[in-house]
Amino acid sequence: MTAAIISGKQVSDDIRIGIAREVADLAERGVKPGLAVVLVGEDPASQVYVRNKEKSCIELGFHSEVHRLDVATTQQELLALVADLNGRSDIDGILVQLPLPKHIEEKAVIDAISVEKDVDGFHPVNVGNLVIGDDSLLPCTPAGVIELIKRTGTDISGKHAVVIGRSNIVGKPVSLLLQRENATVTMCHSRTANMAELSRQADILVVAIGRANFIDASYVKPGAIVIDVGMNRLDTGKLAGDVDYESARQAAGFITPVPGGVGPMTITMLMSNTLIAAKRRRGLK
Ligand code: NAP
Repeated sequence: MTAAIISGKQVSDDIRIGIAREVADLAERGVKPGLAVVLVGEDPASQVYVRNKEKSCIELGFHSEVHRLDVATTQQELLALVADLNGRSDIDGILVQLPLPKHIEEKAVIDAISVEKDVDGFHPVNVGNLVIGDDSLLPCTPAGVIELIKRTGTDISGKHAVVIGRSNIVGKPVSLLLQRENATVTMCHSRTANMAELSRQADILVVAIGRANFIDASYVKPGAIVIDVGMNRLDTGKLAGDVDYESARQAAGFITPVPGGVGPMTITMLMSNTLIAAKRRRGLK
């Protein structure tokens, strides 16, 4: 069996059509969703991410502004900028690009972002609401993972999902969202015993470990949905997922490629969150 490819690019393009339509409707009512991105320092990968976010904003008709700050910016200066953005009526979403330089405490900055403008979904109140099942702005990559699974046409309810990786930004929220969809979820991490055995029981396998090509066909139940969140830069300069694509696709029913799988979904879900935040702040449906 060779797996069907789940194209994150295609799904992302479809979602963007809907977002652009809603933004056009809002424009008729004089509303333009606004996203502020803050970048501290000159980390090359972060610069690429920020440029892509800016490009997406422009393509979709959002107001976009990028605050590029010197690497020596103090925590106090950064917090002052966040406070200013919190108070601005033309800004609906605030994203502080991580990682921050070592002298700045990331938690202090995330906690300072207004809950209603936390379009990354990392604020403890949004995380807490996710845990208890209340309305919240969902973290972008995990929300994108769920969207990709749904696009296979599979009903998640009652399926056994195995999530490999338990980070706060990917593994944990993915497992919560899968539970919300009524999957039975097993979490694996670096101390899990018999991981391949557990993984082979998965109808849905989500991998987010940061180890290039780690998961091969021996971890995959025949016909399973395999979502590869990994993005690892190889010495050759090529991008590789956490899943050994060529091997795993021989067993899986559906699989995401890297690049072109989860990656394109992350920015699209950020745009979707900014649109949601813009509507909520104005009491619009
Ligand atoms: P992370 O914070 O480093 O967490 C990695 C997790 O994987 C940890 O829970 C760790 O277990 C677990 N792990 C590591 N090695 C393992 C092994 N051999 N077996 C089982 N579990 C193992 O990483 P992350 O931030 O979640 O990111 C994971 C990957 O996703 C990275 O490649 C990252 O670049 C990618 N990513 C992609 C996007 C996107 O937009 N596509 C967004 C975010 C992240 P312990 O907890 O026991 O240490």
